Amino acid sequence: MPAAFTDTAALARFLDAARAIVGEDQVFAAEDDQRAYADQMAFDQATHQPSGAVAAASVEQVQALLKAAASARVPLWPISRGKNFGYGGSAPVQAGAVVLDLSRMNRVLEINQQLGYCVVEPGVSFYDLFDALARLGHPLWMSVPGNSWGSVAGNALERGVGPQPYGDHAAQICGLEVVLPDASLLRTGAGALDGNTAWHVTKNSYGPGWDQIFCQSNFGVVTKLGLWLMPPAEATMSLSLQLPEADDIERGIAMHAPLRLRGIIDHDAAWVSYVGIASYVGPRSMFWQGEGLLPDDEGVKIRQKLGVGWWNSQVNLFGPEEVIAAKAKIISAAAKDAGISGGDWQTWRQGDDFGASLAGIPSTRDMAMIDWYGGRGGHLGFSPVMPSDAKLAAAQFRRTRQRYEEFGVDYYGAFGVGGRQTVAVNEILYNRDDADQARRVHALFEALIADTHKAGFGEYRTHIDYMDAVAQTFDFNNHAMRRLNQTLKDALDPAGILAPGKQGIWPRAWRSEG
Ligand code: ADP
Repeated sequence: MPAAFTDTAALARFLDAARAIVGEDQVFAAEDDQRAYADQMAFDQATHQPSGAVAAASVEQVQALLKAAASARVPLWPISRGKNFGYGGSAPVQAGAVVLDLSRMNRVLEINQQLGYCVVEPGVSFYDLFDALARLGHPLWMSVPGNSWGSVAGNALERGVGPQPYGDHAAQICGLEVVLPDASLLRTGAGALDGNTAWHVTKNSYGPGWDQIFCQSNFGVVTKLGLWLMPPAEATMSLSLQLPEADDIERGIAMHAPLRLRGIIDHDAAWVSYVGIASYVGPRSMFWQGEGLLPDDEGVKIRQKLGVGWWNSQVNLFGPEEVIAAKAKIISAAAKDAGISGGDWQTWRQGDDFGASLAGIPSTRDMAMIDWYGGRGGHLGFSPVMPSDAKLAAAQFRRTRQRYEEFGVDYYGAFGVGGRQTVAVNEILYNRDDADQARRVHALFEALIADTHKAGFGEYRTHIDYMDAVAQTFDFNNHAMRRLNQTLKDALDPAGILAPGKQGIWPRAWRSEG
C-alpha cells in the first residue's frame, strides 16, 4: 500500500477552502474528529486514520470541494453514512485522506408508487426511507441488509445484499447523478437526456451503461441514486429449515439452488451457521466460559439450548396467496426429498401486523454479534463468490472452517444461495483489545484470500486493509482489469484525489510504477 497522505501544507490549504465552502462548523479536523471518522472496528485505527472530514450539504458544495481538493492535491474519501462496518466503516484506504461526509444530504427526493422506484440522496438511511414509505402506508417494499443502520445509496453502491426478492441492491440501481473528480455533473442512463422522465425506469438507455461503473469504484461521487423497490406482496409465507451437521451444507445448497434458478424461491435464501445465530443472542460467555476455540460438544449444547441446527435457513415467498401456496408445496416436497426438516409455513396477509410481513424492516439486531468474545468487539467479512454448485460450496466451507480452527477463531459463515451464484459471507468476530487475536485474525484473512484464489474464486467485496490483496487475485492476462481501471482512473481523475486505493485502484500519483 502506498504511503499515507502527509502533506500538512496542502491539507491546511484545502481545509481553509473547505471552511469557505461548507462553513466552519462543518469541517472536522481535530484529533477527536479524526478518531470519530476512523474505522471503529479496527485493531489499529492509525493505519487508516483520516486527517478529518468535511460535510457537504448540496451538489454545489460537493463540486466546490472536489475542485478545492484537486487544486490542493488532497485525497478525499466519500461516504454516505459511513456505516460500512466489517469493511472499514467511514475510514479511507489511505491514512491522511479527508472524509467527504454526505450524510447531511438526506432527502428522499421521490417515491414513485406507480413505477416502483425511489430517488434518494446519499445520506438517506434505511430508517429514513422506511419512515418515508411508512408515512405513505408502505406502497412499496424495500430490501434491507442485516445491519441496516447505513445508507441506502452507500449500501447499493457497495453491492450490499438483503434477504428479499430485490436483495441484490446494486442490481436495483437505475439512474445516478454523479459529480466526477473534475467537478463536472453527470446523469447516467436515460437521465443524460435533460428532463427525461424515464431516468429511473430503464437500464438500457443509449450507449454504454455507467451505473455499475460507479459501484465499488473511485470514479465519481454519487449525489442522487434511483433504486427500484418492489410492489407490496399480497401475502408472504416463510419456512425455517435446519441441517443438523456441518457437512450437511452440501445438500442444503443442492436443495436451494435449482429452486432459486427456476424462480420457485423468490430470494437468495441463506444457510447460516449456528455460531452466527448464537452471536445475535448473546456473548459466548453466556453459553461457555472457556478459553480458545469453542469445543464441538459445547456447540452441541448451544444448538440444543437455542433449538437450531448446525445450518439454518429461512425461505420466504412473496405474492398472491394462491401463487405462493403452490410454490410452498413444491419447496416442501424438495425439502422432504432432501431429508431436510423444519417447522411449518408461516403465512402473513395484508392487514396482519406489518412487523411479521417479511417486508424489509431496518434492524441492527445482527450487530450484537461483535460482542461474541467480549471486550470492544469487531467483525471482518470475508466474502467469496462461487457458482451455486453444492460440491464447490461445500469444499469452500471445509477449507474455510479448517483455517478458522487453525487460527483459533470460531467459525461463523452464511451461504447466500442464488440460482447461479452463491456468496459465502464468512464473519470473523474478534475482541479489539486482544492483541494475540489481532495477529491471528490478520493471518487468517490472508490465508483465506490465498486459499480462495488457489481454488479459482475471488471476493465480491472486502475490507479497506485488503483492497490491494484482493485486487491482486483478479489476475487474468497479467491484471488486464487493473490496467483498464487505472486507465479510466487517470482519465477521469488526473489529480488523483478521489478515494485513492479503493478496490485497489490507485491514481498515477500514488502508483509505484508511476
Ligand atoms: P453505509 O453508511 O451505507 O454503510 P458508507 O457511507 O460507509 O456506507 O459507504 C460505503 C463505501 O461506499 C464508502 O466507503 C465509499 O467508498 C462508497 N460510497 C458511499 N457513498 C458514496 C457516494 N455517494 N459516492 C461514491 N462512493 C460512495
